[in-house]
Amino acid sequence: MQHFQALVQMDTSDPPGNEQPAAAYLTRVLEKEGIPTQTFALEPRRPNVVARLKGNGSKRPLLIMGHTDVVNVDPKKWTHPPFSAAREGGYVYGRGTLDDKDNLTAALMVMLTLKRLSVPLDRDVIFLAEAGEEGSTRVGIQYMVNQHFPDVEAEYCLAEGGRVVRAGGQVRFASIQTIEKIPRAIELTASGAAGHASVPLLTNPVVHLAGAIEKIARWEAPIRLNETTGTYFRRLAQISPPEQAARYRDVLDPNKVAEVDRWFKANEPQHSALLHTTATPTIVDAGYRINVIPSEAKATIDVRTLPDDDPAEILDLVRKAVNDPTVRVEYGARDVRPGGTSGLNNEAFKAIEAAVTRHYATTTLPTMSTGATDMAYLRARGVQCYGIGPAIDNEDGPRGFGAHSDQERILESELHRFVRFHYDIVASLARSR
Ligand SMILES: [Zn+2]
Repeated sequence: MQHFQALVQMDTSDPPGNEQPAAAYLTRVLEKEGIPTQTFALEPRRPNVVARLKGNGSKRPLLIMGHTDVVNVDPKKWTHPPFSAAREGGYVYGRGTLDDKDNLTAALMVMLTLKRLSVPLDRDVIFLAEAGEEGSTRVGIQYMVNQHFPDVEAEYCLAEGGRVVRAGGQVRFASIQTIEKIPRAIELTASGAAGHASVPLLTNPVVHLAGAIEKIARWEAPIRLNETTGTYFRRLAQISPPEQAARYRDVLDPNKVAEVDRWFKANEPQHSALLHTTATPTIVDAGYRINVIPSEAKATIDVRTLPDDDPAEILDLVRKAVNDPTVRVEYGARDVRPGGTSGLNNEAFKAIEAAVTRHYATTTLPTMSTGATDMAYLRARGVQCYGIGPAIDNEDGPRGFGAHSDQERILESELHRFVRFHYDIVASLARSR
């Protein structure tokens, strides 16, 4: 709790990103306990900290990581000041309590505990406190993977991206992230003759662009399950009431899944997004004067492809959906995080499942994130990464207490349980037998 509060009390908002105080604190704590550390910084105020407990080398390393930066705050909106780490009613309040100073503190405590107990290790355990996760990964995970990979190279990695879901105060299931969709951008450019708006033209690019956007919104990408999403729906069916269970089972039936997807789109959009690539229009840029038909109009589409989709094939399908020779459809610039998946049939996933059973007595659901995380960069280098996290009340998000909210908070009891859970996974994967 002391380390957790100290870290939450540091304003590491990104932007501008000043992770230096947190990095210095972690270095001090680790070194004081006799764990050597190294600092890697692309920019002086944005260091990454690496610490390593040596094993006997009979197995390849395990990486445990958390990010030190947090998203911005609007202090006026907070009841408890955002960097107070105030404790009230069994909660700790503050920016970063759920994202990601919980994982950061848990990983720190795992290192300190392994060291204090002199646990003999079959593999190195590497701790990484990364800068820049919230939108400036070039100083954080990208820098570490591209410039200092040997210092963090591992067989397995544990990071943020999962959680244990509680509803009505009861644990429902544990969600463990094993794979994520890949963000891409598609740009639409409609072209036609410019002219006076008093004479409507059939070639008006604004109208053609609007039609293209409409068609993309209605486009149905091919549905395909992977190992993670298939297991997710199968296990979700096992723990759901009959009506919902039947629906989740229908996802696994190729003859019924399209109909379920239509129901999902209206009622459980997060589940629809797991079934296929999605395309969401987000930016429209058309026209500059009321009386001028512009010669060009543009739109940007946020695309999230399934990790194993062929991007060229997806572009082709979107072009066919648009089906308008005056509208150009192309990929635009975006930081494309590489794909990669983590297995469900290895010792790491089994250790996580066993720890979930021991600490939470519930089902483990492997999950695919629709958003992107830092784990993508490590998976692209062959590291099997798993997203874990503490138990969170499902009701908390909609009530404004979630990650990135103006009243971010964590249950104290769940922070402690998460540390024990985290330690248990690491010990079972790394301890010498
Ligand atoms: Zn985070």
